[in-house]
Amino acid sequence: MTGDYSQELTLLEQVHAGLGSASTLDEFYLIVGGMLVDPNAFGFSRAFFLRYDDRTRSFIGRLALGARSLEEHLQFRNDILEETARLKDLSEMMQREVSDPRFVQPRSVYNLRFHSLWIQLMQMQEDGTNVNAEFKNITIKFDHLPHNHLLGRVMTLENGAVLDKGELGIDGLEAFLKRPFVAGGLVSKRGLNGILIADRIYEQEPLDDKALYHFQWMINHASVSLDNVELVEQLTSTTKRLKEVDRLKTNFLSIVSHELRTPLTSIIGFVRLVEEEKVGPITPPQCDLLKRVSHHAAHLQSMVNDLLEIAEVEAGGMIDVELEAVDPLAAFYNILPKIETRRGSKNITIEPVIRNTVPLIRCDSLALERIYYHLLDNAVKFIPSEGRVTVEFDRRDNELNISIVDTGIGISHENLTRIFDHFYQVDSRLERTYGGMGIGLRVVNLLLKAVGGKITAESTSGVGSRFTITFPVTTIATDHKHGI
Ligand code: ADP
Repeated sequence: MTGDYSQELTLLEQVHAGLGSASTLDEFYLIVGGMLVDPNAFGFSRAFFLRYDDRTRSFIGRLALGARSLEEHLQFRNDILEETARLKDLSEMMQREVSDPRFVQPRSVYNLRFHSLWIQLMQMQEDGTNVNAEFKNITIKFDHLPHNHLLGRVMTLENGAVLDKGELGIDGLEAFLKRPFVAGGLVSKRGLNGILIADRIYEQEPLDDKALYHFQWMINHASVSLDNVELVEQLTSTTKRLKEVDRLKTNFLSIVSHELRTPLTSIIGFVRLVEEEKVGPITPPQCDLLKRVSHHAAHLQSMVNDLLEIAEVEAGGMIDVELEAVDPLAAFYNILPKIETRRGSKNITIEPVIRNTVPLIRCDSLALERIYYHLLDNAVKFIPSEGRVTVEFDRRDNELNISIVDTGIGISHENLTRIFDHFYQVDSRLERTYGGMGIGLRVVNLLLKAVGGKITAESTSGVGSRFTITFPVTTIATDHKHGI
């Protein structure tokens, strides 16, 4: 099948495709203007927009499209015709290359067309040579308008209308309006958004009822599209604001964690001095209490460090790791005493299950200990009073899987996908049963990213959970224990 797809597109389709490709108000106005002055669409010579701001009750000159002289006009028409021809060639080439012509989407060709038209007009705007760029800077206060000013007149019109400056004694925009022109308001849900004016100053075709009908039809469609564009702009600005709030939160986290770190280090240091009897003898009950202070202070310190780390990564930083040959079993035994103190009075057994030879992995030993700490801490925390935690080491081909398995409360299917988000907790009430800040798994994730491991979670509510961390095992790591 051959044929000219652009000819088959109705004006309606062109308008829909053009308006649909706008995502900001500036784009929207430019695209509407592009269509109005396009000889293949509406065929006006020039188009003007004035945005109306209902808070300040003023008109702000937005833009004027079209030429300032007949030569410019002819050049502009020529450019657009060349553009049309180029796109026609493109659509024909697509038809030749695609055996089934139904796959050639005229709409996407037209999206492309209005987009490139828009870019072209935008470029012309920037150097100010081709279009009426000075129009951009007009600001007119509504209250200052004389009674017969064009803008006031158009605001009271329900639809578009053909107006003649001379005949009607209309004032305003003298430099632009010389002949009869069409004008109408663009109204979104919010109210009057702007005024659109177009004329045929360099064209012979008269502004008759047909031209008015087309213009009116166009502004009706454009008014409907405006709601979408305004919505997109709102969403974009909300997203921007939220990003800013998020950045402030990250900043705040980072400052608070830094400030908490210093006094904490002193507390831990001084308690140790007293505990080690460097400042005089202490009784066994005092020693016992100091041990608890030390333990809680150390936990607090690790939470502060986690917060700081998250804040740093969110601010675009990286977790500092030093990759070396690490024995995963030794790291597990290193962290075990810390976890045992977290167990408190609960009756929980913690034991490793070694399925086959545990290879060395390329990792950072401190990072690995912190990963174990968070996973084991959760395993112990989410077992209500008694149960079992096993740590399974299982080498499969070139991977080492370490699973932390508990017989705790488990996690429902829908929550399982969210637990790695930071600050996410299945139970987010203030008076929740289990403590924590909802950052442990986020830290685990960041650490694993830094050392090149990954994590998966499986769980059944009321039965227990299994968190599996996986590290690649290189042959060097197994054959030459210290050669990584
Ligand atoms: P938290 O400090 O709250 O433990 P985490 O990021 O470590 O924060 O975990 C996020 C949430 O995931 C927890 O609040 C909990 O609801 C759930 N969770 C994590 N590990 C387990 C587990 N082993 N058993 C049950 N729930 C868990």
